[in-house]
Amino acid sequence: MFKDHNESYEQIREAVKRLCASFPGEYWRQQDSESRYPTEFVQALVDTGYLAALVPEEYGGSGLDLKAACIILETIHETGCNGAACHAQMYTMGTLLRHGSETQKQRWLPGIANGTLRLQAFGVTEPDSGTDTTRITTTAVRDGDHYVVNGQKIWTSRVGHSDLMVLLARTASRDTMPKPTQGLSVFMVDLREEVGHSITITPIETMINHSTNSVFFDDLKVPAENLIGNEGEGFGHILDGMNAERILIGAECIGDARFLVQRAAAYASEREVFGRPIGQNQGIQFPIAEAHIQTEAAALMVEKAATSFDEGQPCGTEANMAKLLASEASWKAADVCMQTLGGFAFALEHDVERKFRETRLYRIAPISTNLILSHVGTHVLGMPKSF
Ligand SMILES: Cc1cc2nc3c(=O)[nH]c(=O)nc-3n(C[C@H](O)[C@H](O)[C@H](O)COP(=O)(O)OP(=O)(O)OC[C@H]3O[C@@H](n4cnc5c(N)ncnc54)[C@H](O)[C@@H]3O)c2cc1C
Repeated sequence: MFKDHNESYEQIREAVKRLCASFPGEYWRQQDSESRYPTEFVQALVDTGYLAALVPEEYGGSGLDLKAACIILETIHETGCNGAACHAQMYTMGTLLRHGSETQKQRWLPGIANGTLRLQAFGVTEPDSGTDTTRITTTAVRDGDHYVVNGQKIWTSRVGHSDLMVLLARTASRDTMPKPTQGLSVFMVDLREEVGHSITITPIETMINHSTNSVFFDDLKVPAENLIGNEGEGFGHILDGMNAERILIGAECIGDARFLVQRAAAYASEREVFGRPIGQNQGIQFPIAEAHIQTEAAALMVEKAATSFDEGQPCGTEANMAKLLASEASWKAADVCMQTLGGFAFALEHDVERKFRETRLYRIAPISTNLILSHVGTHVLGMPKSF
């Protein structure tokens, strides 16, 4: 049943909490121990319409704003669940929505909204280009009515659980372009018939259960009609979606931080050592209070960035700052929570070590803290660029 479009933010929060109650810590620990994709959880989000929050109603989605999507992901994380198995569907779809033709939107968005088409994967990062996206070397060469793709992506998450993938590839060599950001193009790749043939997926074992992979393209034929937006302007098309991604990941970090602060405060109030609760000692109490304060300050920045996004204002800097503050807050909360639980933090049953591992990712992906500092230092404060 799709959610009622008139639900208020608070109603959405309560409804997502109820959904998450069916997926307690045991469920996530089992997924972790088996390196399993949380199919049931993702299906529940599809069935309730929350995964299609940002798809406009005319294409069968919930037509909600980014603030609502933030509340959905924040609540998922605050309850101890993990949205990373499916969060990409929310923002990857934005590239199609903003830059796709009407025919492309009619072709894919209704299926994405009703769950019959999974758009969980996006392939941008490559082993040798790292953060410098303009140096990607995967090529798409036009040949009649299709493009031929060759190359390799790394860290392509959820590609084994997706029907479609948004792919960034070079359609013109970097050296021949006036600017390095030119000559990149975005494609919608239909994975269903190509995996095992012109697409090879190799899973990467990681410290978190994230279903991430290396992906190899060997003469993959992509129909020319699957080019999203204009050829050569793909970098700009992808950047648009990155603001949404950073804000939504920021919201997940706020959820993680609240989960960890609550766990720490509850444990500190109960655990007695030397005849009194450890939380009575300010050495334990103050770091938890500090983590809470940092979390709520970061939450305001996430909200500000989401509001600017929803109003159609330029929000690149706000999105970056929100992601940085939120990921630092959740990392601080994770460390404080570990310290508060002492040895028990290492026992899987408390879900603290799992959140500690999961939330650490967001100081690195989807963009690392250093690159955000560089953006603020150069674009906002006008200092010289290091690269
Ligand atoms: C679990 C996981 C899932 C991911 N999922 C996806 C996905 O689905 N799709 C996708 O396309 N990508 C994905 N990524 C990739 C992710 O976006 C990149 O890892 C991230 O952008 C950092 O790039 P890198 O790892 O190549 O680091 P590098 O670019 O190699 O940088 C390494 C370190 O050096 C620092 N650094 C680099 N240059 C500078 C500089 N000039 N000044 C200061 N510091 C600098 C960086 O901040 C970083 O800390 C995923 C990554 C992980 C780990």
